Amino acid sequence: MKNIAIIGAGPGGLMAAQVLSQQPGLVVSVHDAMPSAGRKLLQAGRGGLNITHSKPFNEFVQAYGKRQKLIEPWIKNFTPQDVRAWVEGFGIETFVGSSGRVYPQDMKAAPLLRAWLHRLRQQGVAFLMRHRWQGWNQAEELVFQTPEGQISCKADIVILALGGASWPQLGSDGRWTQYFNPQDLAVFQPANCGFNQAWSAVFKAKFAGQPLKSVAMTVIDQNHQAWCKKGELLISEQGLEGSLIYALSARIRDTLSVNGKVDVELDLMPDQTLENLVAKMNKPRGKQSWSNHLKRCGVDALRANLLREVLDQQTAQDMTAVAQALKHYVLNLTSPRPIEEAISSAGGVQFEALNDQSMLTTRPGYYCVGEMLDWEAPTGGYLLTAVLAQARFVAHAIVKQHAR
Ligand SMILES: Cc1cc2nc3c(=O)[nH]c(=O)nc-3n(C[C@H](O)[C@H](O)[C@H](O)COP(=O)(O)OP(=O)(O)OC[C@H]3O[C@@H](n4cnc5c(N)ncnc54)[C@H](O)[C@@H]3O)c2cc1C
Repeated sequence: MKNIAIIGAGPGGLMAAQVLSQQPGLVVSVHDAMPSAGRKLLQAGRGGLNITHSKPFNEFVQAYGKRQKLIEPWIKNFTPQDVRAWVEGFGIETFVGSSGRVYPQDMKAAPLLRAWLHRLRQQGVAFLMRHRWQGWNQAEELVFQTPEGQISCKADIVILALGGASWPQLGSDGRWTQYFNPQDLAVFQPANCGFNQAWSAVFKAKFAGQPLKSVAMTVIDQNHQAWCKKGELLISEQGLEGSLIYALSARIRDTLSVNGKVDVELDLMPDQTLENLVAKMNKPRGKQSWSNHLKRCGVDALRANLLREVLDQQTAQDMTAVAQALKHYVLNLTSPRPIEEAISSAGGVQFEALNDQSMLTTRPGYYCVGEMLDWEAPTGGYLLTAVLAQARFVAHAIVKQHAR
């Protein structure tokens, strides 16, 4: 018999537990600091649980950017189709949304988590909640803070699945980094995050919380390369949020960090050419007010007020300048929003600290799984897919090596 201690009851830890608890000769326990398992997964379900994406494999793996080559082998063994089939294996139907993203029928995570935990308990997995891992004692045993005080225990194999550092109130607070060699870690940074932009008090009061639909964003990164995407933003008190800026957030963040500034431009009317807009807007407006004239040209109140944020009164009367500002709306993003608000995080355990089975080279028998590793991906189901796929990859490697 071999004891396997999994620390972290998020999707990574739970998937490792699923595979390992099916193997004879392995006794699996899952420890977590929180009172219940899968809190971030549950939160993900509140906004619509996007489990994976339906695009072809070759396009799918490009989402992992500079880590693509390292992550590809995990996904090859547990593909987006496998993720879907796995969810459906719990009797939960899935569907492909208009964007190609895949969701459970009711968009929620709770039914999946409930069924998953039930199956794991049936497979003999022991859950030890309110067990905060605190590193090792002098005998190299695992130390946990529990409601009954500090305890220590030994395990033959340990899987650390401690998560990243966003939304710390859900358990993954990144405090585990203090038990690691600093040289094995990359500093945590917000990923899939919003950015600060100073709006006027009047604009904020009127528009914070409103979506800005059908716009295109162009970012010039630190290598002078332009990245353009179409989508939707959300005006916030502090700046901008939403799927469009999340998708470009790594480039904006990295360019800000290298250059201290970043060129980001919005096309507020991407379906109209500049020439078209100029012609339309320069038509005589008669007695129409400025905003009514803009409205007639298809410019809604939110866009008109965005223009007021950047154009002085005189320039605003020049309809060619207004059309140009609509097509090339320059943002002044100053910094990412704090990591606590980000959907995910970049940084964590560096791949260089791990062997090709994700075992810490300095601590044989200790594996690292999930968002605690230094990779990032946009929203679109890429996060969960890689976390689940890596956990299976690592668990199968452990089975191959240790199960009898
Ligand atoms: C609002 C929101 C929406 C999201 N939506 C999606 C989505 O739709 N699709 C998608 O693919 N991804 C989404 N994500 C991201 C996804 O939820 C995460 O990538 C995923 O949960 C990471 O899994 P993990 O197992 O690596 O870590 P986590 O789920 O973060 O789990 C880590 C666990 O480790 C525990 N832990 C940490 N430190 C200790 C310690 N010292 N001792 C004991 N236990 C500890 C924590 O309590 C936690 O339970 C979303 C995230 C957020 C915040």
